[in-house]
Amino acid sequence: NDTVVPRAPASTRLVVLAGPTAVGKGTVSTYIRENYPDVRLSVSATTRAPRPGEIDGVSYYFVTDAEFDHMVEAGEFLEWATVHNQSRYGTPRGPVKQALNEGKSVLLEIDIQGARQVRASMPEAVLVFLLPPTWEELVRRLIGRGTESSEEQARRLATAKVELAASDEFDFRVVNSKVEDAAREVVDLMNIS
Ligand code: 5GP
Repeated sequence: NDTVVPRAPASTRLVVLAGPTAVGKGTVSTYIRENYPDVRLSVSATTRAPRPGEIDGVSYYFVTDAEFDHMVEAGEFLEWATVHNQSRYGTPRGPVKQALNEGKSVLLEIDIQGARQVRASMPEAVLVFLLPPTWEELVRRLIGRGTESSEEQARRLATAKVELAASDEFDFRVVNSKVEDAAREVVDLMNIS
């Protein structure tokens, strides 16, 4: 992969990673968490049920609808959205602010609606769109993951079509062919080696 990724300004600290379903945002984020300990990964709250192997407080904070409502009303979210017409997901504001105050780089792995909200409220954020090598590969990854019903897969692929069309709103586009390469490109945007 010989894509040349331009460097973000030295002041860059908040990076938003978005992209269509099953493109590998979660895998790239996990790789970054495990290999670049200087990067803080924001843990989102969600109303969806945990998948096998997901740990509360690590993958997500799994909350009830009522708890999510309360967090919205209390202004606790930097952004939040209903994703795939179904569950709600939000980024708790406190840990992000705290990490930035400590001079840490922060990575948000969120959907496109959330990325737009962060752009509006924190214009200094750098928005990165993760692309699949091809559409066929995206479909293959979604089906291969096997965590959604075929009805849910169809819904996610419909959303993915719309999302891919919005990729040019983003500051940078990174193709996720190999996880470690994509992770490196994202981390390079934070000026961390
Ligand atoms: P999943 O259910 O597969 O874990 O995530 C579904 C979608 O929700 C993904 O596109 C993921 O990026 C997005 N998502 C996860 N956390 C957040 C969040 O805090 N805010 C927003 N807006 N989207 C999120």
